Amino acid sequence: MPAGLLERQPLLWLNPGYAESADAHASALDPARAEARYARCANLLAQVFPQLAASHGRLASPLQPIPAFRRALWPRPGAGAWFVKRDDALPVAGSVKARGGFHEVLARAERIATENGLLDGSSDRRVLAEPAARSLLARYTLAVGSTGNLGLAIGLIAKGLGFRAVVHMSADAKAWKKQRLRDRGIEVVEHAGDYAAAVAAGRALAASDPYVQFVDDERSEDLFLGYAAAAAELAEQLTVQGRSVDARHPLFVYLPCGVGGAPGGILYGLKRRFGAHVHGFFAEPVAAPCMLVQLAAGCARPVSVYDVGLDNRTEADGLAVGLASPLVAPMMAALLSGVFTGEDDTLLADAWRLEECEGAYVEPSAAAGLRGPAWLLGSAAGAEYLRRHHLASGMGDATHVIWSTGGSLVPEAIRQGLRARGQASVERGDETGS
Ligand SMILES: *Cc1c(COP(=O)(O)O)cnc(C)c1O
Repeated sequence: MPAGLLERQPLLWLNPGYAESADAHASALDPARAEARYARCANLLAQVFPQLAASHGRLASPLQPIPAFRRALWPRPGAGAWFVKRDDALPVAGSVKARGGFHEVLARAERIATENGLLDGSSDRRVLAEPAARSLLARYTLAVGSTGNLGLAIGLIAKGLGFRAVVHMSADAKAWKKQRLRDRGIEVVEHAGDYAAAVAAGRALAASDPYVQFVDDERSEDLFLGYAAAAAELAEQLTVQGRSVDARHPLFVYLPCGVGGAPGGILYGLKRRFGAHVHGFFAEPVAAPCMLVQLAAGCARPVSVYDVGLDNRTEADGLAVGLASPLVAPMMAALLSGVFTGEDDTLLADAWRLEECEGAYVEPSAAAGLRGPAWLLGSAAGAEYLRRHHLASGMGDATHVIWSTGGSLVPEAIRQGLRARGQASVERGDETGS
């Protein structure tokens, strides 16, 4: 393990397995499948979810330039253009989980309706909102294990399409997330132990009943492809912003990582599109760097943060995962450039700063990526990365996209507490990291 990791020191770890030439197309998983599903289901989504009516059923989030935040965090010239990808504002679910979640639930609804003769390849998907389909889907339960946001997403989306939903959560998951689900008539089952325990319990309960389908965050290809479809959206938005991506205009993307599905899927989609010109870094809490630990150990056998002596305790609940996805970790072995870690105080300080500078509220997990450009531009490891990839002289033309992954559903009273902690941390000036 890298020096300082076990002492919980914030660090930037460069992935020794990263290969510029690695070909994401080598995998049969094709994001075009998810893009096509989203396109054919858009009119259904617009009809079923009022929040999606204005976008005609298209699920998308803004790409917001953050020049004031850049000046606050990195007041030197030549740092390129910085953006936040506002998945905190994704409709219905309020987090990046909407991307995987909508795709997963739509795929299941289509499959069940097709098996029951209500749908064929060319049918208008609005059939799924008609009474026959809804009463069919109501016989099925979608179950999911979650630290919070995946449960919120799957629960709210499944419910919208007429499914029953049961969300298995660890007992220490945020109370407001459980309440929000229960307020919507979604069953919440609490489990002692952490996120992995909730997933395992949910998986076991679903195994014995054909009308209970388990959405498996550690293994689902449909979740993964739903996330990967974000690449097409970002590519379009970069074009609108006048940002090219090529050898002279590198793209750096910073993604908060829990189990790895969301950031892994997004990076995978971007790699298929931009190849070596996109550089992906994951952000993890110092107490829960599960992807770093798994990749540093090699992917031959599962290695968790507990195995190396860390405790997985963090305010960033979306990232409080001890063991990386066995589906995604091996896929990241050659595609991921590196991982940087951060302390809770730093996440909260950066979240506060982002809101002060740019008016964007994000939850603690979603703030984890905000230090990414500073790690790259200001640390010895970052300089080493830029040198190795012949990028050191061209960073003025680089584009940095910091993925904000959640926030719009956080109740105001909770926001106030987190803001106060962030502001106090900024005023103490004890933030760590680059
Ligand atoms: C789930 C989540 C992540 C990370 O996604 P994984 O698929 O677990 O890696 C990041 N931020 C927020 C807010 C999340 O809810």
